[in-house]
Formats: sequence, structure tokens, C-alpha cells
Amino acid sequence: MRKVAIVGAGPAGLFAAHELVKHDLEIVVIDRGKAVAERSRSKPFDLLHGMGGSGTFSDGKINFHTQVGGDLYQFLRADAAWELVNHIEAIFGEYDVHAMSTDDERARDLEKRAAKCGVRFLPIRQAHIGSDHLTAFISAFSGDLAGKGVTYRLETRVDDVVCEDGSVKGLTLAGGGFIEADAVILAPGRVGSDWMRRVVQGLGLPIAHNPVDIGVRVEVPAIVMEDVIAVSYDPKFYMRAPTYDDRVRTFCVSPHGMVVQEVYREEGVVGVNGHALRDRQSGNTNFALLTSINLTEPMESTADYGLSIARLATTIGGGKPILQSMGDLRRHRRSTWGRLQKSPGDVIPTLTDVAPGDISMALPHRIVTDLVEGLEMLAAVIPGLDADRTLLYALELKRYATRVETDRQLQTGIRGLYVAGDGAGVSRGIGGAAATGKIAARGIIAERATA
Ligand SMILES: Cc1cc2nc3c(=O)[nH]c(=O)nc-3n(C[C@H](O)[C@H](O)[C@H](O)COP(=O)(O)OP(=O)(O)OC[C@H]3O[C@@H](n4cnc5c(N)ncnc54)[C@H](O)[C@@H]3O)c2cc1C
Repeated sequence: MRKVAIVGAGPAGLFAAHELVKHDLEIVVIDRGKAVAERSRSKPFDLLHGMGGSGTFSDGKINFHTQVGGDLYQFLRADAAWELVNHIEAIFGEYDVHAMSTDDERARDLEKRAAKCGVRFLPIRQAHIGSDHLTAFISAFSGDLAGKGVTYRLETRVDDVVCEDGSVKGLTLAGGGFIEADAVILAPGRVGSDWMRRVVQGLGLPIAHNPVDIGVRVEVPAIVMEDVIAVSYDPKFYMRAPTYDDRVRTFCVSPHGMVVQEVYREEGVVGVNGHALRDRQSGNTNFALLTSINLTEPMESTADYGLSIARLATTIGGGKPILQSMGDLRRHRRSTWGRLQKSPGDVIPTLTDVAPGDISMALPHRIVTDLVEGLEMLAAVIPGLDADRTLLYALELKRYATRVETDRQLQTGIRGLYVAGDGAGVSRGIGGAAATGKIAARGIIAERATA
């Protein structure tokens, strides 16, 4: 029987396994982290590693769209891409996760209102599992895969990929050990993107650089965004900031949610993210406001650029994320706890393990300008969004900037070596990661049929 090894038990790895179990294959999924029941949200390592990947303690907002959370048209024709998205939605449906119903007329109104302010609003089908319900979903989904024969090697770190004569042969493990495989899918997520880059470059395979998404997490009283959230749970807005003509967008809106730290221990950086619980709500809504930066000459590595900014932000924040009010940023002064909590109308931050400071000390002027302009444009659609009391947390860094070069089945230049998910730079969210896992798995099956 042919053996497939999958590195990473996040959405990309698990959905790849879901596709492969229908065939006569031996499937092993390897992950550095623990089983879902043993993971603790309060431990930084557990937050991003283990069964379910960084999806487990995410907000569980699933976007069912071909071009949100990754661009499936790079790999599939439009009809096939939509078929795959619908297939993924149906799998979630089997676990009682359903897209929220949308009011098309209100969505159209918002689209029109946004367009008049130079902002694009993209209505999409979305489901929301909620961070507090995700562990049950992951347990059920991974348990069903185990019932169908998938084996898991948890708390096991893959060190390298072994190839011979242009074909993959298996994986070496940190601390010794070898897993033999006829096909391998590398799906190590954002947390494993540097490792993936090292491995892929070590094999002499080419990589490309996606634009890096850098920005802040914005936090406002929930009431400010209530009308928009009623139309779309995770509204997607796209702006073009006038000064530098850069793209700015909203990402991962967490209604009544919490801002959380995102720690990349190996790189020595701390950033922020957001999540929302379905059963316990805060009085605030937060979202990422991101600008996309592309680099050409002489430095192409957007991943290195993003990391160096993240290191500076971590240094300026004394190892904590920086928190600043919009009013202080506008007035070119640092925030202090005294200034942040001066009046009863001030927004109470949901993340307090932060350093009040000055975001413009950490982010390049171009990025700060993009973000301020983007927020001001969006405030024309959502009044109050750019008020002085609005809170900004730095840094939000989306680490999918390194793109492993592959064919349309996500196979690299090495026979049998496939990639999927955020770590390979081919997705940017749970839905996209799941879809690319499926594409890689289908590639393995197709290749097996022709072998
Ligand atoms: C706080 C937070 C909130 C989020 N909210 C949302 C949301 O609401 N909606 C959404 O769509 N997305 C959200 N995301 C993003 C989403 O979680 C990711 O896009 C998605 O999980 C990516 O899936 P993946 O399979 O590519 O990687 P991951 O889910 O990151 O999984 C990768 C796995 O690979 C393992 N791994 C890495 N390297 C190795 C190695 N060398 N050996 C063995 N194992 C390894 C890791 O331990 C990890 O478990 C959120 C992320 C965070 C952190």
C-alpha cells in the first residue's frame, strides 16, 4: 500500500487526509503539538501547534469563497473552484456548521454605500463556529478520520524531507527517526513557514514572494459596527490608500470579541490576533486592518521584511504588543495608561498585557499612512470607526508571504512532494487552507492513477 505523510494537523493537513481516506492508502499526519484535549489556549505554543493547527483556537469564521482566504483560480477553473468550495461547505455541514443566512437586499445597500465612499464591500457566505466550540468540531472531525484509518504522530517535529533521484522518500524527525513515504504534503501553517522555506530551499526548489500583509488590530465599541455586522459577520472591505496607492483591507472581524497575543517564540516576536467566543461576548469588536506590501529590487523577501518590522515592534513594546489610541497616533504622541483611560467614554482594551506606546516608532511611515488613510476611508462607511478613542494594537503580521512554487496540483519540482495551506503561501484562512489540502490530496490520487 502506498504511504502518504502529511506534515501539520491544521485545516490543510486534516482536509487533505479527509480526501485521501477514500482511497487505499496508508495516511499518517504528523504534528509538533498536542492532542486537542491537551492543548491549552493560555499557552503560546499550544495556541498555534497541535491537532487542528492554529485553526483550533481561532475564531472559526469560515469564508466559503473562491478568492477569500486564498485565490483558488490559481489552481482551478472557476466552476471547479466553486465546486470545491461547496464541497468544503458540505463537509462542515455534516458537523452542524452552517453558513449564516444573509439578507441580500441589505448586503446590496451596504455595497452601494461603500462604493460611493470609494470602498469595496464583498458580500460572502460565512459560518462562525466560535473559539469555544472549535475544539469539539476538531475532536469530532479528527476522530472520524482516525476511525477511517488515519494515524496521528503528535508531539513529533519533522526535521527534513528526504528525496532521491527527484522523488520524495520520507521525512526525518527531530531527535532521530524516519518516516518512509511515497508522497508527502507539507502543511506546516504560518508558524512553520520559515521551516518550510528552509526545507524547500535546501532541496533547491524555487520560492516566490507573495506581498506581505502588515497592519494593526483595530478595536472599537461593538455598537459602532453593529449595523454592518448585522449584514455580514466578517465584513470584507477593500480600500486603496491615496498617498502611496497601496491596498488596505479588513480581515478577521471579531464581533464582541477579544484581542489576543500571537507569539512566534522561535523568531522572538509577539504580535496580535483576534477571536470571538460564541457563548461569552465582550463589549468591543476588533478587526485586522492590513496593508499589502510587495518588494522587488534589491530585496524581494517580503517574509524577511515583515519579520524585521515585527522584531522592531516587539523591541519597542518591550516584548509586548504596542497599544495606541487613534487620537494619540494622530497627535504624534505615545499613549499611556493615563491617557487611554481618561474618560468614561474610552474604549476598555480586551488585551491588557500590552505596552501603551507609539506605533509610528515601530512601523514604517508608508504603512502608518496607509493604515490611517484606510481607516479614514472606511469611517465614511462606518462612522465612528476612526474616532480618537479607537484602539490600535501592533503588530498584525500575516506570515504567508513566502510562496513555494508548484504546479496546479500543488506538487513541487520533486515528484511526490506537495504543499498546502498558509505556510506554503497558497492560503490565508481556514477555508482556503482546507481547499488547498484537498487540491494537493487530489494531485496525489491523480498521480497514483497514472503511475
Ligand atoms: C487567533 C487566531 C484566530 C484566527 N481566526 C481565523 C478565523 O476566524 N477564520 C479563518 O479563516 N482563519 C483564522 N485564523 C487563521 C487560520 O487559523 C489559519 O489560516 C489556518 O489554520 C491555516 O491552516 P494550515 O493548515 O495551513 O496551518 P495551521 O492551522 O497553522 O497548522 C499547521 C500545523 O503544522 C504544525 N507544524 C508546523 N511545523 C511542523 C513541523 N516541522 N513538524 C511537525 N508539525 C509542524 C503546527 O504545529 C500546526 O499545528 C486565525 C488564526 C489565529 C492564530
